[in-house]
Amino acid sequence: MVAGQLADRGIRNRRVLAAMNRVPREWFLPPHLHREAYDDTPLPIGNGQTISQPYIVALMTASLALRRRYRVLEIGTGSGYQTAILAHLASAGRVYTIERLPDLLVEAEERFRRLGLTNIETRLSDGASGWPDAAPFDGILVAAAAPTTPAPLLEQLALGGRMIIPIGDLGAQELVIYRRTSEGLEERRAGSVRFVPLISRFAFSGRDWR
Ligand code: SAH
Repeated sequence: MVAGQLADRGIRNRRVLAAMNRVPREWFLPPHLHREAYDDTPLPIGNGQTISQPYIVALMTASLALRRRYRVLEIGTGSGYQTAILAHLASAGRVYTIERLPDLLVEAEERFRRLGLTNIETRLSDGASGWPDAAPFDGILVAAAAPTTPAPLLEQLALGGRMIIPIGDLGAQELVIYRRTSEGLEERRAGSVRFVPLISRFAFSGRDWR
């Protein structure tokens, strides 16, 4: 699908491009948006939420340097599009994904079934607390913005693992990538983004948003 466009924008990780080619983005969108499924833009998925732009999905996925056997935690399942790509990359591992809105999670679960993706576990809860009983994770991807990095997520990052999260205020954020090494946590920035807020006692309150 978008692999050509993404390669033009500097995404070179071939495993990520191949995984993105295998996931039909239109399946994750309401019917009236199918024609726009392959535009490189975010789109509404209902409940005031959005599916990320393919370029950002590719960038965030590539930053985790996933291997087939990895255990991955995703916060903010949304449509399930990003989850499906993670599931292809961690095909011999497992993806744990958390969403707080039941309507979105039910639809995403149905898509995983239709796509035959069996290495995904879902949970309806506040993702900022992570998934302690499945930790530690080799990769953690947070698809909603927080003012600071929720401590429980950093605690659940395995040695050698990477985490990516948009950090900032409601209007604009920066992607922050962490890597846990034997010496501690490394941190780097990977560009400006605009995500919907992480609604949590560890992040933004629902009142800030709507
Ligand atoms: N990656 C998704 C898009 C995510 S949009 C996709 O590919 O479609 C961000 C999602 O985070 C929204 O669905 C929102 O409901 C969810 N969210 C916000 N705060 C959350 C929290 N505390 N825990 C879990 N999910 C949360």
